[in-house]
Amino acid sequence: MESRASGMFRKIRIFLLLLALLAVAASAWRSNARLRDWARNVDVAIYPLAADASPQTARFLQTLSNDSFDEIETWLEDEARRYGVSQDKPVRLWLGPQVTEKPPEYPSRAPGMLDAILWSLRLRWWASRHDDIHIRPHVRLFVFFHAAPPGARLPHSIGLREGKIGVIHVFADARQARQNLVIIAHELLHTFGAADKYDPASLQPLYPHGYAEPERQPLLPQSLAEIMGGRVPVDAQTSRIPENLSETRIGAASAREIGLLKNSD
Ligand SMILES: [Zn+2]
Repeated sequence: MESRASGMFRKIRIFLLLLALLAVAASAWRSNARLRDWARNVDVAIYPLAADASPQTARFLQTLSNDSFDEIETWLEDEARRYGVSQDKPVRLWLGPQVTEKPPEYPSRAPGMLDAILWSLRLRWWASRHDDIHIRPHVRLFVFFHAAPPGARLPHSIGLREGKIGVIHVFADARQARQNLVIIAHELLHTFGAADKYDPASLQPLYPHGYAEPERQPLLPQSLAEIMGGRVPVDAQTSRIPENLSETRIGAASAREIGLLKNSD
């Protein structure tokens, strides 16, 4: 009698677990669909974090407002329009309150799939507890600001399609403010499903999909960067970081990955 009851409990537990997994999958599918249809506004929350205790970082965080991210909204609107989307401001960015607790640390540069999934679940749980903003965001970006000299190497930024979360590292420096937006836009498009288009060892954009103008004659130097290629190719070995989003485009391959170009186009 008792063993039959515990067997029943086990079945109920498994059933509930399956229901929970289905709910997660359904909600992920819904938000994926929303991000990829470009017909409804997508709201992105930006939560700033101080990467260090310097006065420079504290001062820079004080200067941030919703307006600090306008250029990303306008750039995405313009790029989406090139692909036939007529929606005004298809993506809107909102500045959330500063977050003081650090998110769970990424396991390593190249974690196994299980580690990555567990980290993404922990990060999602952590994010849901630091989500003090007046909107219900579809994407959450946690942005660390560093008081580092321009050109310094910052920790690796991450944008996750699963969970629609980014952990991003940029400079607490007004001279870098527009370049910061290029980095944020790149990670934001990862959450929409875009893949990197550069060689991770050399950081050179990959031809043709990592080039903004793969048909250009002569091919090099290019004058623009493809957002997921990340850099403006100068010659076969060198490339430079774009100064701002006006030097950056969404190429056809990235556009297809994020639903701007439909497969039949
Ligand atoms: Zn990337």
